[in-house]
Amino acid sequence: MSNRTEPIRSVKGTRDLLPRETALWQRVEDEARRVFAAYNFREIRTPILEQTALFARSVGADTDIVTKEMYSFEDHQFGDLEKLKERIHTSKTEIVIPSYPGSSEFVAISNLGPFQNDVDQFVQSIQHPLEVGDIPRTPGNLEAIRALTEHRDKLRHLVESGIPANLALVPHTAGLIQRLAGQIELGVVLTLRPEATASVVRAYIEHTMYNEGGIHKLYYIGPMFRRERPQKGRYRQFFQIGAEVLGSDHPTIDAEFLEMLVLLLARVGLTEYKLLLNSVGCPKCRPAFVEVLRQALDTVKDQMCGDCQRRAVTNPLRVLDCKVEADQPIIENLPHIIDHLCAECRTHFDHVTKELGERSVQYVITPRLVRGLDYYTRTTFEMTSNVLGAQNAFLGGGRYDGLSEMLGGPPTPGFGVAIGEDRLLLMVEQAATLKADDALDVFVAWMGDAAQQPARQLVKTLRQEGLRVESNYEAAKLKKSLGQASKQGARFAVIIGEGELASGRYQVKDMAAAQQVEVERNQIASYLKEKLQKGSH
Ligand code: AMP
Repeated sequence: MSNRTEPIRSVKGTRDLLPRETALWQRVEDEARRVFAAYNFREIRTPILEQTALFARSVGADTDIVTKEMYSFEDHQFGDLEKLKERIHTSKTEIVIPSYPGSSEFVAISNLGPFQNDVDQFVQSIQHPLEVGDIPRTPGNLEAIRALTEHRDKLRHLVESGIPANLALVPHTAGLIQRLAGQIELGVVLTLRPEATASVVRAYIEHTMYNEGGIHKLYYIGPMFRRERPQKGRYRQFFQIGAEVLGSDHPTIDAEFLEMLVLLLARVGLTEYKLLLNSVGCPKCRPAFVEVLRQALDTVKDQMCGDCQRRAVTNPLRVLDCKVEADQPIIENLPHIIDHLCAECRTHFDHVTKELGERSVQYVITPRLVRGLDYYTRTTFEMTSNVLGAQNAFLGGGRYDGLSEMLGGPPTPGFGVAIGEDRLLLMVEQAATLKADDALDVFVAWMGDAAQQPARQLVKTLRQEGLRVESNYEAAKLKKSLGQASKQGARFAVIIGEGELASGRYQVKDMAAAQQVEVERNQIASYLKEKLQKGSH
């Protein structure tokens, strides 16, 4: 058996992006930053960790993201209390009263003593951290601890009374205590963000950016986390490039934003995709449509998948998101929300589509597109591409006029997009029109000790001029150095040997053309910059 240590591997659903990939990622991000700047967007960087409540309130407590996919944990340092809580929560306290009711012949309670001890210790140990605020003093926690203490005392009385009728109540009371213990949060519950719109709006409210007045245009680039089943184009850590406009509900914002996305995609060499567009109405018109949809579903839901049968009752709009093949013909025949918009939403949507036409942005109205998150209002959109296979949506977004208020901020209309960067990169690689900008510009090859110092000087100068430069670290034969230069894809090699030192003119070799010229030592930087068409940095 080998005694080599087993290497530790990356976490399922996450991946390393190696230099051969990151060069193109950087190129795409650079293009995105440039386009965002042209449309007057500024970068915002929010934390990856947020309070779980932020997503429950915005994305929606009933969504897949919040119910199944978030990486959440209680942030605290009370390991012992946690164990105690877990033991109370899961302990098996059994009571056997075979001859009840009507007699006191035989009562057996197993494991109750240790259970009561645990509860006593838990109630006692929690007091101090709660008083000083190390355990969150939330209304939920305070109430759970109060009730827990009360039921602990009640349990003691029941047991001590020895009366069978009282003892019969023990399992119920113990069960209550278990449930209450489970409810106590020893720390704030945190989540690795599954998306960033909620964070951006939280930051906007927290920093009272609305006091500055006007429209805020913000963008972000960074990792998101969802516990999904990994497959091509779907990861548990993935990246999004996103942008948000806060402070205006004008339909021109929607149209201009979509125009910007088209430009961004053109800049990274993409033209083959579809823009799907819809309106999901507003709190004024949507409830009535949901009723219409619920009624329509009543007659067909029995033929649909289990999820749809449940959603038909709890959240009928989500039925439209269903991907189950057999349900598709049924969904196609359901009523369309754009036929049920109120006058204001209708006018908004018509303005958006008219302006998209004027801006030469092509779109397909897609009545089923409601998007999975709770906060959307009016315009929703998605872009899809055939090259992506099953996971064919590479960006999505829309208007969210009520989100700020959902998060406790002032009424602030918003519009945004989240671009799935991993999927965007798959498309960019496939299109192969965008080139990564990471080739080596110059390899400085020197021979003989005397050339070492002048070579170092030249390398430094060229790097200061912004060129990407490499050199041999030890004296080496020319052939070996040139081999390295071509292996690294250098456009030029500068050769410095005894003869060059004597003449003050270095050999400059164009690696691809296999041509060589002599250039005055002091002219090398400007010569190479011109050849490489690089401006000074
Ligand atoms: P959403 O926030 O769900 O609207 O997603 C916006 C975009 O992010 C999608 O269109 C995808 O391109 C991308 N995306 C969402 N989830 C994942 C994932 N698990 N892995 C990779 N990309 C994702």
